[in-house]
Amino acid sequence: MEILLAREMGFCFGVERAISLVYQAREEDPEGEICVLHEIVHNKHVIRELEQKSIRCVEALDEIPSGRMVVSAHGVSPEVVRTARARGLHVLDATCPLVTRIHRIVRQLAEQGKHVILLGDEGHSEVTGIVGQAPDQVLVIHSPDQVDTLPAEWEDVALLSQTTQDRAQFATMVDRLKTRFPQLQVFDTICDATARRQRAIRELARCCQVIFVVGSTSSANANRLCDIARDCGADARLIENADALREEELQGLATVGVSAGASTPEVLISHVVDRLIGFGGVVREIPIQIETSEDEHGTGH
Ligand code: SF4
Repeated sequence: MEILLAREMGFCFGVERAISLVYQAREEDPEGEICVLHEIVHNKHVIRELEQKSIRCVEALDEIPSGRMVVSAHGVSPEVVRTARARGLHVLDATCPLVTRIHRIVRQLAEQGKHVILLGDEGHSEVTGIVGQAPDQVLVIHSPDQVDTLPAEWEDVALLSQTTQDRAQFATMVDRLKTRFPQLQVFDTICDATARRQRAIRELARCCQVIFVVGSTSSANANRLCDIARDCGADARLIENADALREEELQGLATVGVSAGASTPEVLISHVVDRLIGFGGVVREIPIQIETSEDEHGTGH
């Protein structure tokens, strides 16, 4: 069995930055109460390691009695920050700078009186934080089919994306919206780290029967990688860690791939590769392929 590794996978700079900010807070205050509002990043292993340092990730402000509150990499609304400060919490911001940039764009568009359409997963903490920048002016959609349901009176419209959305899907959304709003203002706010991981899994999916995507079920970008691999014709399985691999499930497979979400630590990826090697796999280079114009459309800027 051959094992092919995605050229880009695992921690992105925003995740590394957020995690190191939390550990830095603990160093500065070894005994104090430190809570992260929402999971610092969507990975169970990372959360467990924080718990060992007595740092809890909580889902609501009410669960933070005092001390320091760290805003997760996904960001929150200004209202949440205001409330936390009013309760006397010391707020530390670990929001990824790319998410902060989206917050800024949304507020500017709202001040200009525009309607903002956000391609995103309703209920995801990043999306909730973006909507919270201008709650009356942002509408979340996740499928081009929803374009027909937008309010008839809308004219001045801008489109943005959650950072982890699929670029091909975003391009489809732009095409659909432009038929209805020819003056549509488009902001491609999908982050490059996400786009590179998506491009890498597309490449992998052409060569592998099965791709194991290491990541937690709560990780939007890891789930998206699975969707993209399946769209490209490969079987994709989201696994939390190496324990999920079963030798009998690998019988008869000639080539398997390994990828990982942007919130997956390197150690979990290594364990998965080691276990596959333990089952008789051999790591090989991905065969070089000539890219087509269609590939460029699906993954480029
Ligand atoms: Fe930031 Fe992109 Fe990483 Fe999200 S995936 S934390 S937006 S760099």
